[in-house]
Amino acid sequence: MSKNTLSTISVRGGIESDSNHAAVVPPIYLSSTYAFEGFNQKGAYDYSRCGNPTRDILGQTLAELEQGVKGIVTATGTAAINLALQILKPDDLLIVPHDCYGGSYRLFINLADKGHFKLKVINQTNPAELDDAFAAKPKLIWVETPSNPLLRITDLADICQRAKATDTLVAVDNTFLTPVCQQPLTLGADIVVHSTTKYINGHSDVVAGVLITKTEELGEELAWWANCLGITGSAFDSYLTLRGVRTLVPRMRQHQENSAKLVTLLSEHAAVTTVYHPSLPSHPGHDIAKQQQHGFGAMLSFELAGGEPEVIKFINALEHFSLAESLGGVESLVCHPSTMTHAAMDAEAQAKAGIGPNLMRFSVGIEDGDELAQDVKQALDSLIGA
Ligand code: PLP
Repeated sequence: MSKNTLSTISVRGGIESDSNHAAVVPPIYLSSTYAFEGFNQKGAYDYSRCGNPTRDILGQTLAELEQGVKGIVTATGTAAINLALQILKPDDLLIVPHDCYGGSYRLFINLADKGHFKLKVINQTNPAELDDAFAAKPKLIWVETPSNPLLRITDLADICQRAKATDTLVAVDNTFLTPVCQQPLTLGADIVVHSTTKYINGHSDVVAGVLITKTEELGEELAWWANCLGITGSAFDSYLTLRGVRTLVPRMRQHQENSAKLVTLLSEHAAVTTVYHPSLPSHPGHDIAKQQQHGFGAMLSFELAGGEPEVIKFINALEHFSLAESLGGVESLVCHPSTMTHAAMDAEAQAKAGIGPNLMRFSVGIEDGDELAQDVKQALDSLIGA
């Protein structure tokens, strides 16, 4: 029987794999250690940092969803990013985007500062900057598309084609879209990472990550490093994440439907100056997004007219959006990137990335879309006295 669609893979991952009691849902293995079958006779598992049955089912399911071969589940999304960087030596060049997640940026800058690799920060939507970057023959290019928080779109097929010509590996942070909306490995990337903390788990009760490779060889190398560094994910987090994955497809559908309603509302409201979402034909990455994505995603950002007083008033007026970092949970969140998610970037880096003081970001949840829209409308109306 075929198990090729994302819905079937996500729902069926590990189902009926229990050979002890035929439990339909795979049981959780919390044991830290496993008995040897005899002297010098190791079984399939020996110690949970190296391998764990619950974690392995999750890794395999996520690898299948991304059409990769190996999924390495890590303790956090940041750990998955750090893991990918293990392929670099001190003379290797890493190219990163100027507007990625603030924590990724902090990791890149600080490891480069310590001499772990050479680093070049560029605007990956600018072909001239890409030309320069690839001329330096990088070992790895890091891509985050859509970017956080401004939803800039990078042309993955173009980057992968350039990378092939210079023997550069391509790693894509696919946290914002999930394999439901984008599968970078099918476009030529070598590595995909997720903060599974976000949509993959989807319930804001786990912090975890995954790194998925296109080849077995790269997968084996990085699995070795994950164990060596001690950054593999816990069995309990893996169990919860697998539970979340089962509803990934319908959740993403509802997230996007609600987000589309808010994009329309925000685009027409006088209290908003700019809306950043790739579904808008005016968005510079709209055509590329249409081509490389299956859906525009549910994250969106926008700028309010006015200054800090309006930002504060807007946040306080919202009733169905929690003021919090993170994203991708079933509940809606509002965030002020400059003082929250991207506070790790200094003022100069924020300005360069286009993150201003009036910028707001929504992680649109799966509550009733009309009620979310009513809530945003009343909060915006309160800014203009409507
Ligand atoms: N990548 C993106 C796009 C993120 O938004 C985040 C966190 O917000 C991360 C990676 C880091 O993930 P974690 O917080 O699970 O370490």
